[in-house]
Amino acid sequence: MTVAPITQPRPGPVLEMRAERIVAALQTFRDAFPGVRPYYATKCNTHAGVLRTLREAGCDFEVASTQEVEILAGIGVPGPEVIFSNPVRAREQTARAAAAGVDRFSVDSVEELHRLSVEAPGARVYARLATFGQDSVVPSEGKFGVDVTGAVRLLLEARERGLVPYGITFHMGSQSLAPSALRRPLQDVAHAMDRLRRAGVRLEMVDIGGGFPAAYDEPVPPLADFGRAAAAEIAALPYPVEVFAEPGRCLVAEAGTFRCRVIGVAERPSGWWAHTDLGVFHGLMEVLESGGELRYPIHDTRGTRLRRCYHLTGPTCDSQDTFARDVLLSADLHEGDELLIGSAGAYTSVYASRFNGFAPPRVVLI
Ligand SMILES: *Cc1c(COP(=O)(O)O)cnc(C)c1O
Repeated sequence: MTVAPITQPRPGPVLEMRAERIVAALQTFRDAFPGVRPYYATKCNTHAGVLRTLREAGCDFEVASTQEVEILAGIGVPGPEVIFSNPVRAREQTARAAAAGVDRFSVDSVEELHRLSVEAPGARVYARLATFGQDSVVPSEGKFGVDVTGAVRLLLEARERGLVPYGITFHMGSQSLAPSALRRPLQDVAHAMDRLRRAGVRLEMVDIGGGFPAAYDEPVPPLADFGRAAAAEIAALPYPVEVFAEPGRCLVAEAGTFRCRVIGVAERPSGWWAHTDLGVFHGLMEVLESGGELRYPIHDTRGTRLRRCYHLTGPTCDSQDTFARDVLLSADLHEGDELLIGSAGAYTSVYASRFNGFAPPRVVLI
């Protein structure tokens, strides 16, 4: 990411990422999940400074594409240390990742297992179990995953094809608000491990995925509650395994703040609108994905005591660009005022497009 020169009159929106908040979030995760090894979900925020900060703090990495393998190689993370959890990949993606040394891949179909055995012979395989995304604000589930029988079949077939049956994974759904959402998938894991053991297959790893929440405009259950729910089920697994997790959002969301500007204020029959130089298409896409449920904490720097309710919308001519409704801000808000959008470090800059010709926000590490 390039840093605009200070002399530039209109620098445009910036996402500021605070390194010490990332390190603190990683520590909070480790305290909540003793003995669980975190693999940061790279797709969540791929800024090199963010990745370096996590790397220096001893975090490992999960990827969903070969491009991410290459980004990580650029900051010195070797392929063999990375896990590839996107269960369906174009053939050349697997081949390129394998050439870079990646040898742990998730699968949730026989088709992918066949491709994998050709493109990455001898690789370690972990099966993706389905979950049902209960109490998840950004439902990411419903696409991937097999049931217990399917996972057992895949891992047995992996052995037949010269691959290594390595583990089982799942994802409870992003921004989960229910620690209990970890229970059922881990019980499924236990059943699968039992059945595999009877077939002579012993797994090395269980990966409890991501989905752990970050605080937006309301408090969320502490990570320690998720940790306790996981620990209870992990203790009940049929034999000891290494346990991984793939936290994304909870490691980087709260470390990020968007600084953007009001470009105009308008009073309309629908209420007061503030238009900003940042919107849904330039970083705030998750507002749409969550059906408006994800509410970023938003402040203006004017700080006038008298408040007024605004709808906040981006700079494009698309009505879907609206990213917040009924936000109390300074009543005399006007052109040029700065808005601070908090908890913006996850799934923002990485979603930004050039829609309507507006440049994506710059990202800086502080
Ligand atoms: C996106 C993703 C994650 C991270 O999810 P969060 O909700 O950000 O924690 C982890 N694992 C996989 C496979 C993913 O696709």
